[in-house]
This record gives sequence, C-alpha cells and structure tokens, in this order.
Amino acid sequence: MRIPIVAGNWKMNTTAASSAELCDGIRKGVDGISGVEKVVCPPFPFLFIARDRLKGSSVKVGAQNVHWAEKGAYTGAVSYSMLVEVVEYVIIGHSERRAYHGDTDETVNRRVAAALAAGLKPILCVGERESEREAGRTEEVLLRQVRIGLQRIQVPEGFAIAYEPVWAIGTGKAATGPMANETIGLIRAEVARLSGAVAQSVRILYGGSVTPDNVAEFARQPEIDGSLVGGASLNADSFISLVRQTAEAAAAKP
Ligand code: PEP
Repeated sequence: MRIPIVAGNWKMNTTAASSAELCDGIRKGVDGISGVEKVVCPPFPFLFIARDRLKGSSVKVGAQNVHWAEKGAYTGAVSYSMLVEVVEYVIIGHSERRAYHGDTDETVNRRVAAALAAGLKPILCVGERESEREAGRTEEVLLRQVRIGLQRIQVPEGFAIAYEPVWAIGTGKAATGPMANETIGLIRAEVARLSGAVAQSVRILYGGSVTPDNVAEFARQPEIDGSLVGGASLNADSFISLVRQTAEAAAAKP
C-alpha cells in the first residue's frame, strides 16, 4: 500500500513569527494521525525555524526548489548540499517556477537527479496549462514532462510526483476526483513504461485548489496518493483537516 503525502507549499508567504506559529499548530493537530506523511514547505529563510519547531514530531520539512550544482556562482540559488542539512523533501518543477523563473523540463531533470543523489526526496510537479487542455494536448504535455523530468534517473521506491493542472492552482477551480484520478493513472502508466514495477510504489499527488471541502473526493480515488496544497496549507486547522481526511480515506481503501 502506498502511504499518501499531504504537503503544504507555503510559497512566498509567512513571516518568521507566523511560520513558527503555523508549525506549532500543525504539530499539535497532526501528531496523533498515522497512515499519512505530512510535509510543510516554508520559504528558504524559515526552513531552520520549521526544522527546530518540528523536531521530534511526525511533520517533515521540505524546500520549494533546489539548484543542481553543489556550489558556485549562482546568485540567489540554493544547492542540494545546503538543503540536505535542513530538509527531507524538496518541491521541484512547480508550475510557478516554470512560468516565472525559467525552469524547463531539462533543468527540472537536473534538479531531480541532484536532489536524489544527495538523499533528498523530490516532489516532481507536472501539469498542463488551460490552453494545452483546451487544445487536447493534456496527455502529450504531461507525459513529456514526466519523460524528460525523469530521464536518466533510477526512480526509487516511494518517489513522489504531484499532478497539478496549472488552471487549478490558486484559482478555486479544482479538477474533479475522477478527472484527476484518470490523469494520474496515465502518469503512472508512463512511469511504469519508463521504470517498470517501481511505478506501483510511486506516490502521485493531486494539487490545485484542494481544501478541506474537496480533499476527500481526491483522497478516496484509487490512483491518488495525497495532495500538494498551497492556500489551504497556510492555516493550521485547515491543514490538519486535510491530513485527517486523507488518513481516513487511505484507511478505507481496499
Ligand atoms: C500549489 O501551490 O501547489 C497549489 C496547488 O496551490 P493551491 O492549493 O493554492 O491551488
């Protein structure tokens, strides 16, 4: 059985004080919930705060990006060798990185390779834009992102991918459970074609306007292994509810 992940992407939000408060609230609410991995991904300056506040708890810390080089003249970038001291997870290839910061399938691939080699756990994000969906190109786009994102990589057991349709991120316009389930099935089939049996252990999350009101619809789908959440992860009660509902849905799966 695949252990689902609920990961909170705080994006460029929070302050030092509110990061600490959010970590404390989440920790208190989710520590008793088993059967789901909980991850919070604060902005870089607050990673140490999160690590310290969550020490000894079941909540893991992730970063929102990583560079592929170990060190050097890359102003503003953060390397895997720096992150490995602080976090367990790292989001790679989020559509906002692709749209505003020049991430490409090729650089996403380099980031994933470097992160894995360093012992970090990537959450590889893929997703089609609205125009691509309307043009009937969803499958082609996603499979390309998966194929190039994972090229020359030996996919480890339990690897995480997040399917995040770009039109659903931060819009309040989530996909439906069955739609996301079907698309995630296509992604898993591509991982199986590329990497074989390990695909059955790969956790594929849904992301895009997930809230406590709709999370159960996604969590109970057979192909969906949790969620990557932006807005609804910035409130402790709401994140706790996402974790609780995901654990309940996972326990009810055959
Ligand atoms: C995200 O940031 O990955 C995301 C899915 O955001 P939201 O939940 O706000 O749509």
